[in-house]
Amino acid sequence: MSASYQPAEILADAGVSDSPSHWVDGRSWVPEKTSRVDVEDPATGRVFAAVAAGGPDEVDFAAVAAHAAYHNVWAPMPPARRGALLQLLAGRLLDEQEPIARLESLDTGKPLSQARGDVAVAARYFAYFGEAADKLSGETFWAERADLSYTVREPYGVVAQIIPWNSPITQLARGVAPALAAGNTVVVKPSELAPISPLVLGRLIREVGIPDGVYNVITGLGDIAGAALTAHPLVRQITFTGSVQTGKRVLASSAEHLAHCTLELGGKSPTLVFDDADVPAAARAAAAALIRNAGQSCSATTRILVHESVHDQLLDAVITRVSGLKLGPGLTDPDLGPLVSERQLNRVLQLIGTATAEGARIVVGGGRAEGEGIVDGYFCEPTVLVDVTNDMTVARQEIFGPVQSVLRFSDEEEALAMANDSAYGLSSAVFTRDFARAHRLARLLQSGQVHINEYPLDSVETPFGGYKESGIGREKGLQALAGYTQLKTVLARVAAASD
Ligand code: NDP
Repeated sequence: MSASYQPAEILADAGVSDSPSHWVDGRSWVPEKTSRVDVEDPATGRVFAAVAAGGPDEVDFAAVAAHAAYHNVWAPMPPARRGALLQLLAGRLLDEQEPIARLESLDTGKPLSQARGDVAVAARYFAYFGEAADKLSGETFWAERADLSYTVREPYGVVAQIIPWNSPITQLARGVAPALAAGNTVVVKPSELAPISPLVLGRLIREVGIPDGVYNVITGLGDIAGAALTAHPLVRQITFTGSVQTGKRVLASSAEHLAHCTLELGGKSPTLVFDDADVPAAARAAAAALIRNAGQSCSATTRILVHESVHDQLLDAVITRVSGLKLGPGLTDPDLGPLVSERQLNRVLQLIGTATAEGARIVVGGGRAEGEGIVDGYFCEPTVLVDVTNDMTVARQEIFGPVQSVLRFSDEEEALAMANDSAYGLSSAVFTRDFARAHRLARLLQSGQVHINEYPLDSVETPFGGYKESGIGREKGLQALAGYTQLKTVLARVAAASD
């Protein structure tokens, strides 16, 4: 396939080379000798860049720079000034929306319009948390022994951000914006599969006047650079987004030096569709779960639990929505781009094979997508599986691909039991016109978010995070600031001692 875009031009427009360095202390930096990790265009399988492969020494250099910036400039800076700088950054991101979106689309494979949306959301995180920076406050208490007692919220110091490959710029902003607003400094380790936009952000951060050392990026392999970062003694808080398996390793590593940890680990989120539901709206949500980012989203609702009386109606509507979707390189702005890597494609195809072996039936798609313009990339057909039961592997494991599973239920009790019978608990949705049932289920569903009659409804302002193995802690909304601050209690004697 001959791509109708030039990766070299896209890199140049975003102000980054095809062999970028780490970003440390306000500049591009790489040691004299470094090995590199190839970065592929998932739409063609071709290598278009090679990032520096950091290790413990590079991580240490970045952590020391972040620690110095924390003590010398960022924590002492008046919060209103910090907030104003973050708001300037939001504006700069919007100025550069198009080149960054093109880069993000090239790096991840996602459709260009979705990448544009991701950059806008990233900007919104910096605007929102920039506005919140000077509004952190504590409480005062009556206390038995102290005359005056109050709490203050203080930053941790150096914060590690380990981000995945599915939406790097937004997932970075989701953690970096509240961390910086609260007065921490950061070291970011992007995924080796989509590592470039965090480096571009370094330049913008410098341009708006955020001091050197406040924001640092070390690229490289998860097992080496990521592991060195989570083990670094100067890192006092870690935010990790990715798989449960790696999340557990990060938590174990943080335990060695008792760093605080926020884990966002994905899900197997259910959508419950009742007999009184707005079925077209539920079908739209079911289809969106596999279309948006080709299903590579932690909050994709990939178990559609539908009442048997509307099962066929819903299924027909979903099939209509996902049949005839256009696949292509992200930069051509199709409905669906490729999956991020050959490994991810093979994993998804294997899970589809396991589903049929266990008794599920494919009604749409089911294989590697082939055709003009998509022969070399990692494209998967949008796939709908029916006759899925909750004990099947496809209903229990996160797929991270364009695959939707449809399951039947006969009453509310059964639907709730199926929904909660999962190791995960990130998000869920209920479609019903019965107000009481909707809110009864909202109380009983074991997930960090419950959406009613539309999915997704969440945004920068609404707290997000998992129950059970979907994670620890909350991101988004003002609640996120709690994860980037520690509470100090001050107890004072102000009245004269009476002996
Ligand atoms: P991982 O959990 O392995 O990777 C997530 C991030 O962690 C990446 O930046 C990775 O770097 C880094 N990492 C890997 N090993 C370590 C380590 N020992 N210490 C610190 N950081 C580390 O996800 P995968 O890429 O392997 O994806 C596998 C599955 O995870 C997906 O199929 C999906 O189910 C799930 N996932 C969920 C996401 C979510 O948003 N919840 C996002 C991504 C994946 P590197 O990539 O360089 O190895």
